[in-house]
Amino acid sequence: MSDIFTANIPAKGYAMLSKDSKFSQFEFTRHSVGDSDILIEILYSGICHSDIHTARDEWGGTVYPCVPGHEIAGQVIAVGKNVTKFKVGDYAGVGCMVNSCQECEACKNSQEQFCQRGQTVYTYNSKDHFHEGKNTYGGYSNNIVVNQNFAIKVKANAPLDKVAPLLCAGITTYSPLKFSKIKAGDKVGVAGFGGLGMMALKYAIKMGAQVSVFARNDKKKDQALNLGATNFYTTTNINEVKERFDLIISTIPTSYDPTAYIDLLKFGGELAIVGLPPHKIAPKISIIDLVHKAGKKIYGSLIGGIKETQEMMDFSLENEIYPETIIVSPSQIDEVYEKLTNGSGEFRYVIDMRAK
Ligand code: NDP
Ligand code: ZN
Repeated sequence: MSDIFTANIPAKGYAMLSKDSKFSQFEFTRHSVGDSDILIEILYSGICHSDIHTARDEWGGTVYPCVPGHEIAGQVIAVGKNVTKFKVGDYAGVGCMVNSCQECEACKNSQEQFCQRGQTVYTYNSKDHFHEGKNTYGGYSNNIVVNQNFAIKVKANAPLDKVAPLLCAGITTYSPLKFSKIKAGDKVGVAGFGGLGMMALKYAIKMGAQVSVFARNDKKKDQALNLGATNFYTTTNINEVKERFDLIISTIPTSYDPTAYIDLLKFGGELAIVGLPPHKIAPKISIIDLVHKAGKKIYGSLIGGIKETQEMMDFSLENEIYPETIIVSPSQIDEVYEKLTNGSGEFRYVIDMRAK
């Protein structure tokens, strides 16, 4: 290999070449390891539903070839000369962002996803403002180069296959629970019980909340109750639900009626929306409903900043809060996408990047 500190680094990944294609092997390069960068060998990469929305161009703006993956766990194999946070051999995680200006107020407050200069660099399908505007490629690959400030420290011996999904599913559900200041005794509803929903349930229970799950059928009812849910509701008879909530987190990736969930909030209760359905079918909330159903708060939530992601990682590892996972090989990615969109999906699928 040529000098990784001065030349581009070869990478091998799995890409979709158009919105209707299947995944195929794709060779590309990563930028060289800058003074503040680390090079990570990717060992596990979680499959998030956002990967599917992007790979299939359901949000618009997908650049092909598209290498998704923003739930990355691996081992540091090289560090730039100014790197202090990591050394070779350390475990590291990378989530949805790999860089930002780091100077504006939002970045200084570790809300890098809201960089006020518009320079947030997402892990894939994003313009890399710091490397000639090139398109970024994600974690369905064997390595990644990232600024040390955007890599999350993972303690030695942590189960990396379980760590990977924390980098998106973990932080995206931990963050609204914190934002809404969930505490013991609060009632939390989780709508959509897949990769994100399962993490929301686990965190909310750990925070002492009573948690109920909403799903479109009762396929995962036993799993929800075994994981500690108080109630399990199917959305077909949502209007009959008597319980009222302090917070409902919607992780739903398809079309649905958000007002049905607003109706289930206590006065002063909050609806946090993280699920982002394809733009063509994304539901809208009526201001008429908002006024008539007044006294409830609705907000969107986008992953979480790097500081909070580290806090989430430490909290998860300390309390052994891990996702329910199924390990798959890269050759199974198409099959997993199919399952996650035809209603036969389990919780989180994690790709073993060393498998074929
Ligand atoms: P998954 O596919 O793992 O889970 C989605 C779950 O929602 C499935 O269990 C599915 O059920 C269920 N579901 C689908 N439609 C409905 C419905 N109408 N009512 C109730 N449940 C429903 O997806 P993820 O958890 O990975 O992602 C969820 C969403 O969150 C995606 O839109 C993703 O893009 C978004 N996301 C947003 C982030 C943010 O920062 N805001 C970050 C990460 C993801 P079934 O098993 O029946 O299919
Ligand atoms: Zn994600």
